[in-house]
Amino acid sequence: MSKYDDLNRIIAESKHIVFFGGAGVSTESGIPDFRSKDGLYNNRDVQFDRYTPEYLLSIDCLEDAPKVFYEFYRQKLNVDGIEPNRAHYKLAEMEKAGKLDGVITQNIDGLHQKAGSVNVHEVHGSTLRNYCKRCHRKYPADAIFTSKDPIPKCSICGGMIRPDVTLYGEGLPTDAWRNAVRLVDNADCLIVGGTSLVVNPAASLAFGFRGDHLIIINRDVTSADRMAELVFHESISEVLDKIDVGAQ
Ligand SMILES: [Zn+2]
Repeated sequence: MSKYDDLNRIIAESKHIVFFGGAGVSTESGIPDFRSKDGLYNNRDVQFDRYTPEYLLSIDCLEDAPKVFYEFYRQKLNVDGIEPNRAHYKLAEMEKAGKLDGVITQNIDGLHQKAGSVNVHEVHGSTLRNYCKRCHRKYPADAIFTSKDPIPKCSICGGMIRPDVTLYGEGLPTDAWRNAVRLVDNADCLIVGGTSLVVNPAASLAFGFRGDHLIIINRDVTSADRMAELVFHESISEVLDKIDVGAQ
């Protein structure tokens, strides 16, 4: 029996499978991993050099230096034109076939929904959604990315439009987090992909899993490898590609 036979056996016998993913799911679509050595944090533009990347994506920067925040945000976080990869499409196919209860993601790029996934819980928010800080009116992605105004303003009240993204210094969105915890509590199989499980509280989802089968797919070793039934240090899309949804 190969590891892939084991994987397909677990998928076949599980009734409530949940996928929990991180940056590694999107790197195959060309989105840099904020924390890898090739990622956003080491790809700083000269004009941002006086700031740390954590500051540039913090609530403090948004409030104290909004022009700097939006300049960085527009340059680095626009996902317009970026397409889902085979991992996103496979997960959407599994959900459609009734083999996946839902996706929990730390990514803010909306690629799971773009691939067709419906039950998606974005525990760090999404760059595709914005809202007015003052009146909470909702705005689409282009309210920030294509706005000519250095600081995008609400057309109703004049307040600042901000991304619906969890910034450094902010807590996780309550509803998404609660739904994610509920999904994991109800799961008999948790597949963790593309996250090194170092960022809490999101990483605590994997450590809190009490179901039957924990599967980890990540290029590098993770802190939860020892707890897992199956570990793949490989490309996520290549591993997910081996899942035979039709054979259930
Ligand atoms: Zn407003």
